[in-house]
Amino acid sequence: MTLIIALTNNITLLLALLFIYNLLKSHILCLKSPQNQFIQGVIFGLFALIAMMIPFQLAPGLVFDGRGIILSIASLFGGVIPGFITAIFIILYRLTLGGVGAPLAVGSAITMVTAGLLLRYLLARYERRVSAPSLVLLGLIQAVVLIFWLSLAPLPLRQQVMGVVAPPIFILYPGGILLAGLLFQFMERQASMAEALRKSEERYRTVVTSMSDGVIIRYADGTPGTMNPQAARLVGPVADMLLNLTKLPAGWRIIHEDGTRARKEDLPSVIAIQTGEAKQNVVIGLQNPDGYTTWFSSSAQPLIKPGESQPYGAVSTFSDITFEREAKEQLAHERNLLRTLTDSIPDYVFVKDTESRFMMVNKTVLNAGGMTEMEQIAGKTDFDFFPSELAQSFYDDEQQLLASGQALVNREEESIDLLTGKKIWFLTTKVPLRDKRGNIVGLIGISRDITERKQLEAQALELAAERQRMNVLNKFMNDISHDFKTPLTVINTSVYLLQKTDDPVRRQKEIEKLETQVSRLTKLFNDFLTVTNLDNAAFLVALQPVDINRLVSMVVNETTSLALQKHHTLSFEPTSNLPMIDGDAISLQQAIANVITNAISYTQDGGRITVKTYEEADHAVIEVQDSGIGIHPDDLSRIFDRLYRADEARSTHTGGSGLGLPIAKQIIEAHEGTLTVESKLGEGSIFRLCLPLSREPVLIY
Ligand code: ADP
Repeated sequence: MTLIIALTNNITLLLALLFIYNLLKSHILCLKSPQNQFIQGVIFGLFALIAMMIPFQLAPGLVFDGRGIILSIASLFGGVIPGFITAIFIILYRLTLGGVGAPLAVGSAITMVTAGLLLRYLLARYERRVSAPSLVLLGLIQAVVLIFWLSLAPLPLRQQVMGVVAPPIFILYPGGILLAGLLFQFMERQASMAEALRKSEERYRTVVTSMSDGVIIRYADGTPGTMNPQAARLVGPVADMLLNLTKLPAGWRIIHEDGTRARKEDLPSVIAIQTGEAKQNVVIGLQNPDGYTTWFSSSAQPLIKPGESQPYGAVSTFSDITFEREAKEQLAHERNLLRTLTDSIPDYVFVKDTESRFMMVNKTVLNAGGMTEMEQIAGKTDFDFFPSELAQSFYDDEQQLLASGQALVNREEESIDLLTGKKIWFLTTKVPLRDKRGNIVGLIGISRDITERKQLEAQALELAAERQRMNVLNKFMNDISHDFKTPLTVINTSVYLLQKTDDPVRRQKEIEKLETQVSRLTKLFNDFLTVTNLDNAAFLVALQPVDINRLVSMVVNETTSLALQKHHTLSFEPTSNLPMIDGDAISLQQAIANVITNAISYTQDGGRITVKTYEEADHAVIEVQDSGIGIHPDDLSRIFDRLYRADEARSTHTGGSGLGLPIAKQIIEAHEGTLTVESKLGEGSIFRLCLPLSREPVLIY
């Protein structure tokens, strides 16, 4: 009985010591391992020593106490270092006491530490927490260990001890370790919970203090509220009013978004306390005595204790949104300005997306389409308004712009007036529209109606052309008047002489002169008429298939007598199977005749004129080669000019109009052909008339 009381005392003392340990622990925990572990071990060791100092003497030299319990707790909860330090303390102290039990005490201490550590290892390995059964198990193991070591005591002592010690040990060891373990565990949990709470509170405080939003906590029962530093900074002068609903300082006002005065009851925290419901993003303005308003967005959350329905307070957060509001107002103002501006300019302004759909247009565009609302055009494309070919050309331009990112600047575009259907002209600029990252998201276009300018331009052009025509005509008339004057002077003289003389020979001579000049005048006049007709371009109305060989052969026949007069050899070498050309036979005949007549005229008597036809590069070529006087290189480029005649002194032929080659060239070019010349002075010339062959008929059906 005394043994049980002694052991119980011992255990009670241990429990008290453990309690003290836990109080100390919060300080020890601040230290880092393994220093922490070492100190833990020393404390446990000291406690074990205290337990050993109030032992129960079983027999002389054999003491019993609660050190085994301390050892178990130290190794199970503390680990290797605390466990072994405690064991060392126990062993050293026990060795100083001496007696028969000393070696047994050393053995049991080492075994008990090992048992405690083993259980700790197993629990960790299988991820189990220290539980009541595991503590009882450890107690039983330690009891067995103790009994084992006691059984090694000398025989008389062994019997004496076993009879007395064994039963209480099997009760007190499991019970003591269970109690101490649970207490230790409980206190440790308490300590860690308190620590967690402390940390979370610290975190919360840090968050609230460092928040950019102001935070105010108000209580329903009038307890003074609190606010974070940011709140104090934001609403400083009226902080007291917001916290405790006192009167506003003089000159200050709280207002609603629309500028009307707000009451205290409109504050979100007051509403949250009154209704028990959260209030989100209420805009409140705080006007200072200078009239400047700071705008806040405020939200409030009621604070309700579990199980209660009435809030005991409310926490409200608010942030300064003055800058955002002003920016928004500024933006709205600018947008309005831009709208007014685009609507008031007479140009057509439009914004399209990447699919060329209208996103925004100005009033001018709406009016042009007979519309009044943006909705009537938004999402539509040019295909909804213009003929598809025109819309397609706009669409293609825009898609190219969107793909390349290249702006289209000052493009003159033909379009159609949507209301009258008349043709109009635009000067259009389109630029890509980009988002913040620079991606093309559409295009902005601006078109100016330049129809009037275009019409004026066309008129001016026509006028200039007319003026040029007049100039040409004037020059032509000037030049030609000279050509008419010479034969007319000769005619005048001949007529005068005819009147004056009766001599038949002289009269005959004068009559011949008259005939020559009249025929010269007639040719001049005919050429002049031809030129005029050609200028009017009226001769090419209907193109017919023309057989070039036949045409050339006719001309050669007609000019043979002229060639014979000059004793020339005029030959024609046609290429058979020469394809037809499309042309006007009469004018072509004249062109060919002009060239052949020139060859005959500008070749000294007894010359050779060869006319050939052949096909070359889809063209029928008429080549007229003579062995005549040739053309000076200086004249080569000018012989096709109207009324130009090369140096007449070199020529055997006089009386040319200077219109033959220009007429021929004009006729050939009207047929999309060419008239070229090669010549060597004194050796002869080659003129080539090239005419495109008839195209294959196109099958329409
Ligand atoms: P013209 O009525 O004077 O012959 P053309 O226009 O037919 O007028 O010819 C212009 C000039 O070109 C001629 O005056 C002549 O000097 C020169 N010319 C034309 N054909 C030949 C040619 N086959 N050989 C040499 N000179 C030529």
